[in-house]
Amino acid sequence: MTSSPPSLEGLDDSPYAAELRRPRVAARFARAMEDEYLRAFLRDNRTLVRLSCTLAVLLAALRILEDLAGGAAGQVSRPVFFAVLTASLVLVWLAWSRSYERLYLPWAQVLIPLRNSIVAAQLVRVAAHGELDVVMLIPLLLIGPFYFMGLRYRTALLVVSLTGIAAIGAAIAYHLPAPIAYRSGGFALLAIVTFAVAAQQIDKRSRRAFLESRLVAELAQHDVLTWTKNRRVFDEYLPRIWRQAADDGRALALLLIDVDHFKPYNDRYGHQAGDAALRKVAQALQAGARRPLDLVARYGGEEFVAVLYDTDGARAALAAERLRKSVEALAVEHRASRSGAVLTVSIGAAVIAPEVSRAPSGALQLADEALYRAKSKGRNRVEIMDEAEYRLLVTGVFSQSVTDTLRSASK
Ligand code: GH3
Ligand code: MG
Ligand code: MG
Repeated sequence: MTSSPPSLEGLDDSPYAAELRRPRVAARFARAMEDEYLRAFLRDNRTLVRLSCTLAVLLAALRILEDLAGGAAGQVSRPVFFAVLTASLVLVWLAWSRSYERLYLPWAQVLIPLRNSIVAAQLVRVAAHGELDVVMLIPLLLIGPFYFMGLRYRTALLVVSLTGIAAIGAAIAYHLPAPIAYRSGGFALLAIVTFAVAAQQIDKRSRRAFLESRLVAELAQHDVLTWTKNRRVFDEYLPRIWRQAADDGRALALLLIDVDHFKPYNDRYGHQAGDAALRKVAQALQAGARRPLDLVARYGGEEFVAVLYDTDGARAALAAERLRKSVEALAVEHRASRSGAVLTVSIGAAVIAPEVSRAPSGALQLADEALYRAKSKGRNRVEIMDEAEYRLLVTGVFSQSVTDTLRSASK
């Protein structure tokens, strides 16, 4: 069953969508994405890699036994055995170890071409001694790197080519009879070309599947209009960061950011212009909250929320003021605004030292009160509420009288 390609319209901020938009999937992504792809690829292929690495060790062990029993025609020298067995043991250890994702590939890229070249040369040598049935093993050397060793297509192609060169070198050195050399060489070349073409197709498909799955994961986390994190991400993040702040004894600043007079903006400039303005506002906000534990999300409509970790009252005031100014500095004309000539935001901030026993919803409510105060004091301004007001909350809910007091105080 083929699925229709996803619509990539409007997803300008997704690096995965950008890759998918190319006419052909890239044979190699940019550095960071390539690393991410390789990690996913290695994880997906782990069972195969384990199996093939274990099989390689078993084959080497069988050959030793055969030699010891004196059954093999062309005895293999001890150093060669030692090299092949050591390389195979290192690989099998890495395939089963906890450092697999970090260490397997760098080592495999060196050890597999080395080992396979030695093995290919040895197979040719043994064949030259008349033990022709070893050619049965050659397909393993030609298929393995493409499909079973956890190598990406281009590396596998290089490995197989080097193996081929080693085999040709051995055929010349050990005077492999010409008819056998031509026949097995021709067969090997045909096999390499066929396996390579198939492996390239699989590589393309695997890269496309990677991009699509990452894009889907990104879409589930982002608001597609502004490409900030969506409400779902915020709802999951807040309790988590709340607990972390409580454990670490850090303060949290929760900012609710609402565009001023946005309905009149839409009415005057149209909904499309409104959308474009929201995107600009979102970008400005995002640029202003970039620390690893900070989060900016679209809370709903023309309202955003920012979580600033380890931020006390003074720093929250500075950060919020910086965000407010950065939106003002966009200088988006807004002639229908009653509080200035450009598009502005009002910000309500709650600065809280979280406790595990209290729910974060109270902090949100406090930020909402602060926002209400910023709006009623004329908009395009920042209002901060902290522990003092938070103490007035009764299990996360303002008692009616407190709400009235706060509201009349802010008028
Ligand atoms: P205030 O200063 O009190 O916040 O006034 P306001 O006009 O911004 O407040 P109100 O809540 O009445 O209006 C919000 C408007 O935001 C109404 C709605 O059409 C607009 N809006 C919400 N989401 C979007 C959106 O995604 N795109 C566009 N263009 N407009 C939106
Ligand atoms: Mg508004
Ligand atoms: Mg609003």
